[in-house]
Amino acid sequence: MDLFELITAQSVPEAVKAQARSASAQQGASVRFIAGGTNLADYMKLNVERPTQLIDINRLPLDKIEPTADGGLKIGALARNADVAVDARVKAQYPVLSQALLAGASPQLRNMATVGGNLLQKTRCVYYRDTAANCNKRVPGSGCPAIGGHNRMLAILGTSEHCIATNPSDQNVALMALEASVHIEGVKGQRTVLIKDFYLVPGATPQRETVLEPGDLITHVTLPAPAAGIRGVYLKLRDRASYEFALASAAVVMKQGAGGSIDFVRVALGGVGTKPWRSEEAENALRGKPASLASFQAAAEAALKQAKPQSENAFKVELAKRCLVQAMHQVSQSA
Ligand SMILES: Cc1cc2nc3c(=O)[nH]c(=O)nc-3n(C[C@H](O)[C@H](O)[C@H](O)COP(=O)(O)OP(=O)(O)OC[C@H]3O[C@@H](n4cnc5c(N)ncnc54)[C@H](O)[C@@H]3O)c2cc1C
Ligand code: SF4
Repeated sequence: MDLFELITAQSVPEAVKAQARSASAQQGASVRFIAGGTNLADYMKLNVERPTQLIDINRLPLDKIEPTADGGLKIGALARNADVAVDARVKAQYPVLSQALLAGASPQLRNMATVGGNLLQKTRCVYYRDTAANCNKRVPGSGCPAIGGHNRMLAILGTSEHCIATNPSDQNVALMALEASVHIEGVKGQRTVLIKDFYLVPGATPQRETVLEPGDLITHVTLPAPAAGIRGVYLKLRDRASYEFALASAAVVMKQGAGGSIDFVRVALGGVGTKPWRSEEAENALRGKPASLASFQAAAEAALKQAKPQSENAFKVELAKRCLVQAMHQVSQSA
């Protein structure tokens, strides 16, 4: 591993200026922010990430969880996953986010992991983690051995002939269903990106995963005010009950009208997409329909219609459908 220099950022503008010296904010960036370090340190130990400079952002005042003027919630990028999960406002108004966070990693990791770091966590594709293997995401143009190789955990939605890696996060699936906004401070000032526009599908450039540019620091995430009567559920299916990434997961936020029909619904899937996967197809299939098994099954069919299974993960198509049907059933039954 290259030797790296560690500096502590004293202010947001100083952190932005320091990171802007990197030629990229994507795979292979020479200057990296470090927050909880639970993802970045892993990849530095594996030599997948080799920054020459680390900017420790932990002392920046970005760890608050506060109400917004319009009744929503502002969550600082340095708020720890454990703190967000047990925050009373999150549990009461955005239970889908609390449940997603508690389904991730382990208590020790959640104590360190931050909202900003979780937004940017890397895929667990085994070839990406192994510098002896080719990988288009790590070394553009080198190939994708996962296609036809070990791909049981990998994506079936949003894939390309260049990369089929899954976005592994639970948090980000819930944020997608909640229509969160990501607030960024960069060299040109502040900007806000809707989470549906934050992630990129791999296409021919899998090394480019988000819209972030050199210098861009995520400062916080905001959640819109929840409408009265909205409920949410996060359901995660995995190989073991804890400390394991999703094979398939579903975040559903739903509101039923007086007659029981579905007035409002947002659906996102995890474990199956190259990015946290919002399914407008499922939402369109559900809107105005009764909250019945038949509606849920039709929505699940719509959500997975474009699925392209690989050699080892065809089971995910049916698993994701069942996961979504069960999540919709649970949310329709919840108080
Ligand atoms: C064994 C293990 C099991 C896990 N299981 C799960 C799981 O089941 N579900 C799940 O969702 N996750 C899981 N994780 C991943 C975990 O959630 C992430 O490692 C964590 O969320 C990353 O947050 P961090 O603050 O530690 O990020 P860091 O490692 O500090 O940073 C990650 C990346 O984000 C960048 N970054 C950090 N903060 C900012 C910012 N404010 N602005 C711009 N860039 C920033 C860094 O430069 C780096 O590129 C697991 C991790 C481990 C090690
Ligand atoms: S799926 Fe993506 S991350 Fe995995 S080997 Fe292929 S290019 Fe690399």
